[in-house]
Amino acid sequence: MLVVKIGGGSGIQIGPTVEDAADRIRDGGKIVLVHGASGETNLLAERLGKPPRFVTSVSGLESRYTDRETLEIFEMAYCGKGNKALVEAFQSRGVNAVGLSGLDGRIFEGKRKDTITILEGGKRKVLRGDYTGKIERVNLGLVSLLLDHGYVPVLCPPAASYEGEAVNVDGDTAAAMLAAALKAEEFLMLSNVPGLLRDVADAASLVTRIPARAVEEFMPLAQGRMKRKLMAATIALEGGVKRVILASANVARPVTAALEGRGTVIS
Ligand code: ADP
Repeated sequence: MLVVKIGGGSGIQIGPTVEDAADRIRDGGKIVLVHGASGETNLLAERLGKPPRFVTSVSGLESRYTDRETLEIFEMAYCGKGNKALVEAFQSRGVNAVGLSGLDGRIFEGKRKDTITILEGGKRKVLRGDYTGKIERVNLGLVSLLLDHGYVPVLCPPAASYEGEAVNVDGDTAAAMLAAALKAEEFLMLSNVPGLLRDVADAASLVTRIPARAVEEFMPLAQGRMKRKLMAATIALEGGVKRVILASANVARPVTAALEGRGTVIS
């Protein structure tokens, strides 16, 4: 079993990943996909006159402030355009993909953080009415049902809160928890960078290998959302996944290239 997370940042092409994954699936490979749509969410939010707002938590992690209206825009981008673009790309290559969010069948379930404490200009500030959450469990029922019948699940945030509300959750973390729950041997995070870079402006500064126990030492290199990817890698490895690979989605055969070690291999 292989779990592939494809990012939704700006400039990510889905074509190469879908083509590569589709070939592998037709050859009998078992793959589950998870995707993001953050770039599309930002575009749509701007167009709808509700520009995105990113906040930094007291622990230093950046996230999208998600009030009810933002949650709805988020769903349009993730469950709508983003998800259906991937499902369509698989279907047109003869792979019977099914697109679902973590809310459907409660695949991803966790706690809603109604109130978040952020840092703004060095000051603590409490924001209410937020629809973000933290996944605490993966319910495989629906995913297994699909896999057992030959369907390829294509999953994305939001997750379901314990009260059944849709909540914005981090896609990398969701994918990592799914990889652990599915007992995947490998977990790929494909995005618009070739992996963890020592210098974000220099693609040649790629960190090629990280021993699982040393992830924390590399954390200072990661800014913004790359931090979450390293944290997600640790979740997957602690959950029993053998190899986590951060690699580019914008190359020929991205899945194969990543599995051959082109990227940051954490094991
Ligand atoms: P996606 O949404 O596609 O999953 P993200 O945008 O969340 O991907 O994360 C990838 C981004 O992380 C890169 O585009 C880059 O700007 C940023 N980043 C921060 N620090 C690093 C780093 N050390 N190496 C590589 N990318 C980094």
